[in-house]
Order: sequence, then structure tokens, then C-alpha cells
Amino acid sequence: MRPKLVLLDRDGVLNEDRDDFIKNPGELIMLPDSAAAVGKLTAAGIKTAIVTNQSGIGRGLFDEAMLTRIHEQLRNETARFGGHYDAIFFCPDPPWAAGPNRKPEPGMLRQAMSRFRATPGECVLIGDSLRDLQAAQKAGCRRILVRTGNGAKTQAQGLPPEVLPVSVYNDLGAAVDTLLGE
Ligand SMILES: [Mg+2]
Repeated sequence: MRPKLVLLDRDGVLNEDRDDFIKNPGELIMLPDSAAAVGKLTAAGIKTAIVTNQSGIGRGLFDEAMLTRIHEQLRNETARFGGHYDAIFFCPDPPWAAGPNRKPEPGMLRQAMSRFRATPGECVLIGDSLRDLQAAQKAGCRRILVRTGNGAKTQAQGLPPEVLPVSVYNDLGAAVDTLLGE
């Protein structure tokens, strides 16, 4: 069954990740076909919410106003393909002061489900890191790993049994095509 709400990790799923964080809109580089994939979800009437750890804020590398500008850029790049994000949730916590919203904790996912009145069974999370899958498992959502970003490494390191089952696709485009075929 098609999901009602798709929860999207950002870095490594929508855009290229960077070891030194995406600190301004100029550092945001979309992954091939990711914007088109979001456009397909939007056209299908499926809600999308980004759930992203942004510890660069807590580390003092950039502020919330800059993150807003980065997300305007992300929205613009995606809108060129008809794609829309219905909400963007971010967690600014640094790892050494992580609260209940920082993945692998499920706080942001629960907020998104509540906002769109979606049950865990109506949601799927798409991420590239183990902590995405762990957050989705805690929230009770289906889990998809894409091999972009950290994804190939995440898969190669082996997925712990508690996060299984996990569906694995090469990229967001392949994941979305499969979801829309359901
Ligand atoms: Mg990621």
C-alpha cells in the first residue's frame, strides 16, 4: 500500500553530504534525480516531511537563519521538478547534548506523524544512515535505506537485527518508483 507520509532524511538522500557540514546555500548540491523523485511524490498526493539532524547549529558552525536560507534553496531546487516539502523538521542538538529529537531518537518523526495525522503504518522513512533506520524503528515506521550518501557504507557495515526489515535501493528515485508502484 502506498504511504500517506514519506519521511525524508536530508543529507545523503536529497543532497550530497559533506564531512564539514552544509553551512550555506552554496554548499547544497542536489543528488541526481532526487528533486524529480520528490516531484513524483508530490504529484501522487503523498505528503513529504524532511527530518534532519543539523548539529552544525549546536556546534556553532551556522545559525537557524542560515539553515532557513539553505532550505529555501532546497525548496527552490525541488520546485523546479514540481516537488514540495510539506514540512521540514530539524534538530540542532550537538551529539554531546542530544535530546529526544536527535536521531536515532524518534522525536522528529513522531512530530511529523502528528502534524499530518498519520499512523506509523501509513509512513515510510527513507535514510542513508543507521540512525535514520533506528529512529524509524522506534517510531514504528517502515524503513528504506538508499545507497547514496553514507548508505553504501551503512549497508556494508551490516544492519543490526533490530532495525530489520529494511528495503535497500540505489537512490531516492528507485525507492520512490517502487513506493508508487504499490
Ligand atoms: Mg543522511
